[in-house]
Amino acid sequence: MLVCCIAISIALEVSWLTSTQLDLHSHSPLVPADYRGPQETTARQIVESALEAGLGLLAVTDHFSVDFVPHIEAAARRHAAESGVELLVVPGAEIRVAWGEDEVHLIALFPPESYRECFDELARTFGIDHTALLVEDLPRVTLRAHPSVVARRIVELGGLCHIAHADRVFGSYRLLDRPLFDRLAGSGAVAAVELVDPANRGEAARRAPGVSIIASSDAHSPSEIGRRRTTLLLDEPSFAGLARALGVVDEESALAV
Ligand SMILES: [Zn+2]
Ligand SMILES: [Zn+2]
Repeated sequence: MLVCCIAISIALEVSWLTSTQLDLHSHSPLVPADYRGPQETTARQIVESALEAGLGLLAVTDHFSVDFVPHIEAAARRHAAESGVELLVVPGAEIRVAWGEDEVHLIALFPPESYRECFDELARTFGIDHTALLVEDLPRVTLRAHPSVVARRIVELGGLCHIAHADRVFGSYRLLDRPLFDRLAGSGAVAAVELVDPANRGEAARRAPGVSIIASSDAHSPSEIGRRRTTLLLDEPSFAGLARALGVVDEESALAV
């Protein structure tokens, strides 16, 4: 009887977890010169592309801006009201950080209810008035700080931070080849390492123990959304559920190392 009860309880626990396909790094047509898809791409088309790709969660992470997020959130709400099919939209931004000879792209993800304040505060912390930036300059905005400091600030503000395309080659540079990768991945502020090539998974996992290894599309067009993705078990379709699935229990544990 006891064994039977335990079995039922395990079955109930497992049934609360939903296997969800996530794309935690994607771009909108906000910056026309940086977008590879049709310039007239709408938020609705982005939502439909994500759902057609089988995603349950899409993070919208333009370069140093959260300005397109409300359009995609509204389109997802409208689509859900019409079709009953939900897409969880997670707001965020891609943050370029330069330190010495290194350059790191961090993805900051923020709770949907407070992302604007979080992003404003992040920009203010590093002395940038993002309201004065020209849209075409957004991909070149660069924070000059140690990437671990930026990652910690994102977490302090209630966000999640992952390292974008750690194995992408830029000329002769690859972050995965650099000592900075180990320091940043071991800083305690990074929830995940995003890879482009699954062949690098073993090396990244060995050098970033306890950090989730993920894949994301870095889509710059609707057709690229979900081309690389991560499947996680979520206990609820929410930002908090995402954080738990990535192994981040709360802010203090994220910072405790
Ligand atoms: Zn990037
Ligand atoms: Zn990107």
